[in-house]
Formats: sequence, C-alpha cells, structure tokens
Amino acid sequence: MFKTLKPQPADKILALMQTFRDDPRADKIDLGVGVYKNAEGVTPIMRAIKAAEHRLWQEQQSKSYVGLLGDPAFSDAMVALVLGDAVPREAVAAAATPGGTGAVRQAFELVRYANPDVRVFVSDPTWPNHLSILKYLNIETVPYRYFDSATGGIDFAGMMDDLQGLRAGDVVLLHGCCHNPTGANLNPVEWQSVIALLQDKGALPMIDIAYQGFGDGVEQDAEATRAVAAALPECLIAASCSKNFGIYRERTGILMAVSQDASQTGLARDTLAFLNRQNYSFPPDHGARLVTMILNDDELRADWRAELEDMRQGMLGLRQQLADELQRLTGSDRFGFLAQHRGMFSRLGISPEKVEELRRDHGVYMVGDSRMNIAGLNAKTVPALAQAIAEADV
Ligand code: PMP
Repeated sequence: MFKTLKPQPADKILALMQTFRDDPRADKIDLGVGVYKNAEGVTPIMRAIKAAEHRLWQEQQSKSYVGLLGDPAFSDAMVALVLGDAVPREAVAAAATPGGTGAVRQAFELVRYANPDVRVFVSDPTWPNHLSILKYLNIETVPYRYFDSATGGIDFAGMMDDLQGLRAGDVVLLHGCCHNPTGANLNPVEWQSVIALLQDKGALPMIDIAYQGFGDGVEQDAEATRAVAAALPECLIAASCSKNFGIYRERTGILMAVSQDASQTGLARDTLAFLNRQNYSFPPDHGARLVTMILNDDELRADWRAELEDMRQGMLGLRQQLADELQRLTGSDRFGFLAQHRGMFSRLGISPEKVEELRRDHGVYMVGDSRMNIAGLNAKTVPALAQAIAEADV
C-alpha cells in the first residue's frame, strides 16, 4: 500500500535550516525558522514556565484524562487573555488544541462541517500552513491583496477591493497581530473599515493570533481581535501559546467560537468537543496547565509579562537598529518600514534571486519570499546584515 503514496514536497524552511547547519562560514546569519531567539541565539525557557513546571511537578497527583475541551480553567484564562471583557464569557465556546496549528485546523474543519461549500479568503501572502491545510481539506481559497512590496506596507485599497467579492457565509482569515510573513499590520482605523465590510457582507471572521505580546504589547496586540469579536455576530479565534509562553513543543493552543447569540454557544461547544474527539481525542494538557498557573497567579503572571516585554522590546530595538543602519548606508528611507513592522517577521520585499545572492555571497539565510526572523539578529549581526543588503543593492 505504501508504494501508492505520493512523495511530499520538502518543507522549505526546514530545508533551509539544514543548509544553514551545513554552511561552514562562522559569520553566517540565520533569519529562517520562526522561533524567538535571545541575543545569544538561544530559545529560552521563560522563567515563569520553569517556576510553574516546578510547582506542577510537586503538586500534580494524576495524569488521567481531563476533558475533550481541555481544562475549563485554561479556557477561562485564555478567553480573558485574548478577549478581555470584549464579550461576555457565556458568548465563547472554547477548546484546547495541540498548538495554534491545531486550532487553525479545527477552525477550518468546523466551518467546512457547517458549510461544505464554504470559501475562505486569505491574505496574499499568508502563513503557508494556512494554505496547505485548506488545500488538504479541499476548501476553496480566495486570496485577497495585502502586502505592497514597493512600500513594505499594506495595500489597503487592494485588500478592500478584493474583499468586495465576499458573499454571505464566506470566511475571512485575518492575522490578529504581527502578520506572518510580512510584519505589516492594519491600523485601528483600517480594522474598523474591515469590520464594517464584514458586517455588510455577512462574512465570518476567523482570527489567527499567534504572537500576542510580540508586537505593541499584550493588551494592544489583542485590540483588533476584541473589536472584531465585539462587533460581529459570530467569529472564530485560533490562539497559540507557543511564542508568547515559549512552549513550542508542548503544543498549546485554543480555538474559540464567539457568538452574540448565547443559544448558539452550546452547539458550537459540542461541535468543538466532537471535532477534538474525531481528530485526536483529548488535547495536550501539560503546556495548557502551565499557562493556566501563570495567568492565575499574580507573581508568575507579572514575571511572565516582564520577560515577554523584554523580548518585545529587544525585537523592536533590533528593528530600529537595522532600519537606522540601512538608512545610513543607502542614504534613503526605503527600509524605514522595518521599524514600522511588528512581531517576529518582516518581509524585505526582494526577489528570490536576491535572497539567494544574500545567502551565497553573504551567508544570510532568509526564507525565499524574503521573510526575515528579526529575533535571529543581535546587536552585532545587524550591521553585517545591513551591509549585505546594501551591497546586494536590492
Ligand atoms: N499561526 C501563525 C500565523 C503562525 O505563525 C504560527 C506559528 N508558526 C501558528 C499559527 C501556530 O503555531 P503553533 O502550532 O506552533 O502554536
């Protein structure tokens, strides 16, 4: 049977990681894979996570099953973290999932289950996994314009134009903050226009929020998601704890289905439990339990917020340093957008040939679409990167 399987294309980012490892140059720079790294190039375990793990080890008495939706305390803590008081708690059905990817997958499964002919509008570009999961599930995908390579900003007119094609019941996938892969984000006024359009068209927003706390701050990064949830009759939110709690391998995420009509919440909750049951039964618990402990403990929460804020400030500082350095070397503001972008990524907006040239001649590794992981830099490597970009005359 196995011989009938089709070979799968290699994951481009993982292949790039391997080429990086094999590169003997001492001054090579890895801006590829999307994990946060500190100035020493390490993806640290956050202090609050270590402390919570220690406490859990001492206190936990059983590893028996929890529940198909995960621990209700995790849902409560995450609904509060993401949605604040934008909607009443009763308006939200929530299910723990294996990471943000699990939440994205379950969200797509849910909309397809509700409407087999659903269309999902996605930004061009978006996180490649969105596209591959949609394709795998045989869901029709409609791209909308988003990034303007010439300015490094949003093509908002193009986006709104493309969203005019929405029909009632279509789903629009939006990144809550820190857009991956571009780093370019809608401003609050633009969000309001999108919300008005979705209301007008009767479309369902699905928000993927994987970097809360990496952009403008924990509360600020959730503002757009909260505005959407408060304004639309229904929405879906897929949230990841991988980045902001640094627990990538624990697979911790949550899917929320928000409905202004509380009578729908029960149905949504039962469906989320059903979908979890079909796909993997009980969701992972370890990471969710750590997150719950941290969010419900004043001391751990404060320490988590402080460390997350340091990470955020570090990335902002690197952005500013890189933009300043490029300004100095090129004498133009062309790369000023790097300081405006938010989150871990920025798309430089250069051709795949130039990306390859940077790799070959300068040992700079970025993804082929010119996405750079800003956290892959440090104060010493920024000048070298700026020099390489300026020399490549991109
Ligand atoms: N959505 C986006 C846009 C992401 O960038 C990521 C992480 N790369 C995720 C979701 C999910 O990540 P994870 O499954 O590791 O929580």
